[in-house]
Amino acid sequence: MKSNIRVRFAPSPTGPLHIGGVRTALYNYLFAKKHRGKFILRIEDTDRSRYIKGAEEYIMESLGWCGIRVDEGVNEGGDYGPYRQSERKDIYSKYASMLLESGWAYEAFDTPEELEILRKSHEEKGNTFVYDAKIRGKLKNSISLPADEVSRLHSEGVPYVIRFKMPVNEDIEMNDLVRGNIIVNSGTLDDKVLYKSDGMPTYHLANVVDDHLMEISHIIRGEEWLPSLALHVMLYRAFGWEMPSCAHLPLLLKPTGKGKLSKRDGDKLGFPVFPLYWPYGETASGYREEGYFPEAFVNMLALLGWNPGTDKEIFSMNELIEEFSIDRVGKSGARFDPEKARWFNHQYMQILQVQKIAAEYVKIVGNKGYEIDIKRASELVEMVRGRVDLISELWHQTDFFFKGPEIYDEAAVKKRWKDDSPFQMQELRSVLKAIISFTSDETEREVKKWIQENDYGMGDVLNAFRLIIVGELRGPHLFDIIAFIGKEETLKRLDKGLECLS
Ligand code: GLU
Repeated sequence: MKSNIRVRFAPSPTGPLHIGGVRTALYNYLFAKKHRGKFILRIEDTDRSRYIKGAEEYIMESLGWCGIRVDEGVNEGGDYGPYRQSERKDIYSKYASMLLESGWAYEAFDTPEELEILRKSHEEKGNTFVYDAKIRGKLKNSISLPADEVSRLHSEGVPYVIRFKMPVNEDIEMNDLVRGNIIVNSGTLDDKVLYKSDGMPTYHLANVVDDHLMEISHIIRGEEWLPSLALHVMLYRAFGWEMPSCAHLPLLLKPTGKGKLSKRDGDKLGFPVFPLYWPYGETASGYREEGYFPEAFVNMLALLGWNPGTDKEIFSMNELIEEFSIDRVGKSGARFDPEKARWFNHQYMQILQVQKIAAEYVKIVGNKGYEIDIKRASELVEMVRGRVDLISELWHQTDFFFKGPEIYDEAAVKKRWKDDSPFQMQELRSVLKAIISFTSDETEREVKKWIQENDYGMGDVLNAFRLIIVGELRGPHLFDIIAFIGKEETLKRLDKGLECLS
């Protein structure tokens, strides 16, 4: 292993970053930090036809939310910049020329229309057209054409692409840290375009050149890039460069375990497949806005493909850094389980510092048009955190602390508002009014004493009382609620309830 660990996350800004992409970034980050190396963010934006505005910012904000800190990148700078491929065009043209000179690449003048005709005619015969070693001699390129014809095409300014000249029949050996040794015969591979006629490199050339120039020690990326590995190995050989180590991560699978997790699965089952809300074009929900803690989200993602080898499931970022290793990344796809995602968040709802949750809760309350300070917010969070999974669910558990009921749940009224309820509530009002120290304990003691002395049914009284305070039969300990809203508000709700329900 190279002693200087440098890894990169190299997304293309073509839309919101899928959680599979976040997991790739996370594994790169954990690996880098574990080995005291550098985590580099490189934006691969050479395919201008797929470029989506806002995607680059979205990537950076997503990483920031997850607590994945970039060491070198577009915003952070670094000694190996620029870190955006569209700003490195001159570099790629130089390296493409080098491959032409060394004979590892050639110029191809075939027009898109000509290639389309070939594709169609192959299709009609039930074959697939591939631009490869077997056929290149018959096509319009600098291998098949005489030199003076190539010069003529150049002087006429005829557009061309640069293709890699794949050896005819050679076993290409590769090693992957997750999959072990792989051998692919070059005869099965095509002559990929490395450089397009618009003066832009394709992914393969730019990616390999940059990994080399940025001194990347380990390539950690999704399994969907495994088919490109043989070409990349050949490119390294053509340039005479040492290849970084590689690890191709298993796919994230649908909850059914069959096929790759897609946005459609999320839409169908009601869970996000993106870290943040995506506001452009076809909008999409995100974990942050749905009420997940970044700590829980990261913890869940870390365990989708990597296992610690123990039963331990709750890991802080520091613990993940400590324990992560590529040896424990599995080969088979990791099934995504939305229920488990909620479970993780529920765990963090219980273990995170109450002030941290309260800070989020204060914002929610503000958005609802109320105000609360962090101390009182913490008290409320403490009261209800056991009952919720998501931050966004806190409001439903606490809305009645801020406003008395507008309506009373019909089914609950039918069941709990009895003939005796009006006069019992009237008496209860007097009992509560007389209490000086309006704490949860004190009110509970006095109210229960009064119930017992009068031989009333405990459930009858307390359910009717809850109905009046909350409007429904839900919420935490009733005496905690009235202590929190205070005596004045409690009496007010009793008056209103008596008026509306009697
Ligand atoms: N730009 C590629 C992507 O969007 C990078 C693949 C790689 O890491 O080599 O995923």
